Amino acid sequence: MTEQSTSALLLKRIAAYQWAVLDKPHLTYSDISPLLRELAVRERITLTRIGNSFQGLPIHRLTIGNGPLTFLAWTQMHGDEPTATAAMLDLLAMLSEPACDDIICDNWLSQVTLHIIVMLNPDGASLTRRENAQGIDINRDARALQTPEGRLLDEQVRELRPDIGFNLHDQSRYYAVGSSKKPATLSFLAPPFNAAGDVDGSRLRAKQLIAAMHQAVSNHRPGQFGRYNDAYAHRCFGDTIAGCGVSTILIESGADYHDPNRQSARTLNVVALYTALNASISQRYLQYSLDDYYAIAENQENGLCDVLLKNVTQENETGDRYRCDIAVNETAPGHATVVATGDLTELGGFREIDCDGLTLCNAKGFCAEPGDSVTGTAYLGLLSQGYNHLLCQNSRINIATDLPLLQCLSPLPERTGPLPGTPAFFVFRDDKKPCCALLSTHWLTF
Ligand SMILES: [Zn+2]
Repeated sequence: MTEQSTSALLLKRIAAYQWAVLDKPHLTYSDISPLLRELAVRERITLTRIGNSFQGLPIHRLTIGNGPLTFLAWTQMHGDEPTATAAMLDLLAMLSEPACDDIICDNWLSQVTLHIIVMLNPDGASLTRRENAQGIDINRDARALQTPEGRLLDEQVRELRPDIGFNLHDQSRYYAVGSSKKPATLSFLAPPFNAAGDVDGSRLRAKQLIAAMHQAVSNHRPGQFGRYNDAYAHRCFGDTIAGCGVSTILIESGADYHDPNRQSARTLNVVALYTALNASISQRYLQYSLDDYYAIAENQENGLCDVLLKNVTQENETGDRYRCDIAVNETAPGHATVVATGDLTELGGFREIDCDGLTLCNAKGFCAEPGDSVTGTAYLGLLSQGYNHLLCQNSRINIATDLPLLQCLSPLPERTGPLPGTPAFFVFRDDKKPCCALLSTHWLTF
């Protein structure tokens, strides 16, 4: 098969074996436990309870294959980073079916052993937070080993002695690929094992495998993959495990356009892992060089925002006009704030709106009376009069619109402007009257 037809077949297979119930923004142990039971009865898969979390939730390892080349992957070490958990369960669903051997090779099970620890931090997952139940970041516990979850991972590495390790995380959606203003849907790193950043044989293999994975995923989302820099992190598991002679690969799942549950990254994680398995069996990874690895653009932190308003005109108190861009991020569901203003030409936005010809109206609060009802039509009426927030001190008002609405106890200063940290509720006017608004991340013209 050509590379293109293999790639198309792989995507078809992945789509067929994805667990629909895992298309969610967050995953906890109760989401995955029925699937673990379902996978455990499949002939090719062995499920092992390797231990418990601090609060006693089970931590499992799934194993497929019995070959000499050993892979160990672990997911959701950070409780609020679930994307790879779904991806690895998809991968196992696919690989456990003999019908899918056509995308690898017939005897692959006798060549590799793949161990996957899914959801290393189920307590953090229950709390939707990064740390475990002790409040400790497990990924800073590789040396101290004061968390049961960290000790379990350490024991697994010592027991299984993997050739290749996959440390699977999620990153902030605002990472961009270099200066491209595109989101890093996946980011890669072959972590260093010392401060000098030396590259020994196992690290070279990690970099070559990343180059192979990068090429495979780039077929699907060109230009949406980044690379972390080589800074050494002494306390982290990736760096520590890399120091044990394991070819260690960090993959961080990130955002894509119109993809709140990171389903693109979920699919691409499977493509990446499949590629690493396949390239290791065939040794095809040897054709890649360090240059191929370093050709992957470096990640840029905060290179993106949720909404970028470009070329907004503002007026100061004396009526002088100036222009600026405004970047807005959603900080909680339905609540967005300004993160930066000024010349933001180096920033990208998941949504970009050219506000050329639009002037930001001064903040203006509408005094609601007790018992008032704000319907969608009434709200539009207020916006078109330039009101950007509702004053509802001591008054009970009935909100009957689905549009985001800002309620304040006291009036916002007239010239709050787009200062960083201020709520993103702005009305804009053309040369005649108010005509559009940004309501949290929602852009409205009227
Ligand atoms: Zn993480």
